Order: sequence, then structure tokens, then C-alpha cells
Amino acid sequence: MSAKPTKPSVELVSDALGEFLKSPPAGTPAAVIEAFGMFRTQVGNPLSPQLFYEIVEQAPVAVSITDARADILYANPAFQRLTGYRLKDVLGKNESILSNKATPPEVYHELWYTITNKRSWSGTLVNRRKDGEAYLAELTISPVLDHAGNLTNFLGMHRDVSDEHRLQRESAHQMALIESVLDTAPVVVVLMDAEGQVLLDNQEYKKLLSDLKLGEPASLLLQALSEQAGLSLAQVRDGCQDFHNLEVRLDATGATGPRWYSCSGTWVAAPDVTASTYFDTAEGKPRNLLLLAHDTTQHRRETERARIQHLSATLAEQQRVSGMREALAAATYQIQKPLNLVNAAIGMISRTGGDNPLLPVLEQIGASAQQAFDSLNAALPEELPESRQTVNVNALLRELLDLATDALLAGGWW
Ligand code: FAD
Repeated sequence: MSAKPTKPSVELVSDALGEFLKSPPAGTPAAVIEAFGMFRTQVGNPLSPQLFYEIVEQAPVAVSITDARADILYANPAFQRLTGYRLKDVLGKNESILSNKATPPEVYHELWYTITNKRSWSGTLVNRRKDGEAYLAELTISPVLDHAGNLTNFLGMHRDVSDEHRLQRESAHQMALIESVLDTAPVVVVLMDAEGQVLLDNQEYKKLLSDLKLGEPASLLLQALSEQAGLSLAQVRDGCQDFHNLEVRLDATGATGPRWYSCSGTWVAAPDVTASTYFDTAEGKPRNLLLLAHDTTQHRRETERARIQHLSATLAEQQRVSGMREALAAATYQIQKPLNLVNAAIGMISRTGGDNPLLPVLEQIGASAQQAFDSLNAALPEELPESRQTVNVNALLRELLDLATDALLAGGWW
């Protein structure tokens, strides 16, 4: 069934747009408002219906005016260009001619509920051109009321947002791809802006966030880099200096104990996308920091354990050697006394002269005792020199506890 326009097009368009422009509904796309900007500037100084009509005819947005059942009474040239339908193809046809049958019924239901309640509706529908190609239509429908407040017509304005949607989808897909690649990395990865605000992170980072329970790991790592590795973030930022493999310790809460991370940072360009830099083709200043932190806790603990074991073995050796020294020193002391007596006796007998048969015996005993004394002295192990090095008192206490815990427990000290 074909609807006949009840008014000449010029009046119809002028009335419909006049109503709409009195107060464009919230959510009306900016492109639509811009397209009819000329009307807005003329509020209070009405344009002639003919001029209204001309402007709508030349508007870049697809405009259609329907009766209360959505049968088309008017469509501007932009509508015809966008949909591929000529005016005579659509006049009297329902707007559903544009439907690609891919918009959920609930959307139409909500659309009709809104506009039949004399309110404007804006949303996105899947449309189909005359040649069958689907496109996304960002549509605004405004009700047109007569002087008595009765709903007489609808003004529809739509534009093709397929490219914007494709770009959005593509960039969301790219982002998801980047995130899934980052998530497979077995290191903490975080991208921060110059203020330390996290822009992007990966699963390892999120895991660290929940494990630490101390706040944003990015800030903690930067703080640790500054305190433990002397890295002044402001300096490296201003000089755009990268850094590599700086090891820092994070004190986690809970039973997990301290953790060590080997950190590397790279400054990456963050293009300025604000409108004022539209014509500025220069590369954006490097402002974002890509921080990679590799958990070296396991390796560090193994090294520590090996060091403690070595320390423990050295201590045991020192104790064994000093025990031996004490035993040998006691033995030489024991031999020294009789040797002195024998030497004194030899001296006395030699001074009295004569041929004393005891003398060669005593001399033999003395020589043997002297030999034993010399052998024992020679066997005394050298005292091991104590190694000197700078120590971290906290680390020393920790090591001491590691070494002595068993002994203290066994001795009933705790
Ligand atoms: P319909 O038979 O239209 O039914 C869909 C739903 O709408 C149902 O819930 C039904 O109850 C309700 N409904 C339909 N007509 C009325 C009515 N007169 N009063 C109350 N409720 C009603 N659709 C598009 O797909 N693309 C467009 O670009 C488009 N532009 C439009 C522009 C204007 C100005 C208007 C007023 C409507 C527009 N529509 C558009 C909606 C279109 O008229 C159809 O409702 C829609 O295409 C679904 O068509 P259908 O035949 O599948 O279902």
C-alpha cells in the first residue's frame, strides 16, 4: 500500500525540521546537528520554508520523513545516495525496506515504544542498500507533532557508520591480540604513562597485583628501582634512557617472603592525538615506559641456599681445624715437659764428666722426644684467615637464623 504525501514536500520538510531543531534530543549524533547547523543559528529568525527545503536537500545526512506508521513521504538526495534507492522507489514504502533483518526485535520494540511516546530515539540498526550490501546505520528518529500535540510524522536521519565500527572492531581485535600475546609471556609486562598510570598490563602483572596486596606493582617496582638501584625515574624519563636487568627486591606480605625481579625499561613513543596537533606530523615525544620484570626469586633462593651451605661447610671445617690444633698443641705441651727434664739431665751428667753409661741412653731419648716434638709442631694446621667483607646486617641476621635454627631448637632455646 502506497502512502500519499499529505502536504507538499517543502512544507513537510520545513515543519518536521523546524520541530526537531527547536530542541534536538539528547543523544542526537553530532554529525546530524552539524548538518543542520544553519537552522540552529537562525532560531528566532525563521527561514522561509523554501530555504529549509533547500538546505535539507543539500544536507550530507540521509533525511527521511514518514507518516505515523513509518511510511516514507520524503527522502533527500543523501538518503538516495546512501541507500541506492531512488525517491520513486521508496515513496509510500515503509522504512522497513531498509532493514537487513539482522537487527534484534527488541531494538525495534524499544524504538517504537520511544517514538510513539513522543520522544526521540537514537541507535544503530543493520540496514541493507538496494544492491543488497549491508551497512550500519546510526539513526535518530524524532516525532513531529501538530499544533494540538498529536503525533503526525517522524523525521529520520541516519548515516553510515560501518567504517567507524570496522575500525573500532579492528582496533579492539588488535588490542585483544596484543593482550593475549602479552599474557603468554612468562614475565611481568606493564606499560605506563609519564605519570606512572598503568595503560596496559598482562596476566603476570595481574597475578603480582593480587599476590603483593601492597598496591600497584608498577609503583612498587619503580620505587624499588629508585631505592635499591639508584634509578631516578625523572632523570631517565627526561633523558629517555632505557635500562636493563636491574635486580630489585620486593617485600611481599604473607608467607611468600621477599621476591626478586630483574627489571628492564624501554621508553616508547606516545603520539599526541589531541585536535591541536592534527597538522603536526612530528613524532610524538617518547613518554610511555614499557617495564618488563622477570621473577628471579627461585634462582636467587637457590644461589642463597648454595651460599649458606658453603658458609656452613666452611664453618664446620674451621671448627674441625681449630679442634685439631688444640689437640696437637696439648700434645706438644705434654712432650715439652719431659723433653726439658731429659735435656737438663744430659746437661748435668755431661758437666760431671766421666764415662756415665746413662748419657747415651738419655741422649737417644732426648733426640727421639725432640723429633716427636718437631713432627707435632710441623703437623699443626695453619690457622684459617677470616675473610673480610661488607655485610648487610639484615641479611646477616637472616643467614644466622637459617644456620642456627636447628641447633637452637635442638638445644631447647626456643
Ligand atoms: P515491524 O512490523 O515494523 O515490527 C517491529 C516492531 O515494531 C514490533 O514490535 C512492532 O510492534 C513495532 N511497530 C511497528 N510499527 C509500529 C507502529 N506503527 N506503532 C507501534 N509499534 C510499531 N528500520 C530499519 O530497519 N532501518 C531503518 O533505517 C529504519 N528507519 C526508520 C525511520 C523512521 C523515521 C521510522 C519511524 C522507522 C524506521 N525503521 C527503520 C523502523 C521500521 O519502520 C520497521 O519498524 C523495522 O524496519 C522493522 O520492520 P519489520 O517489518 O521487521 O517489523
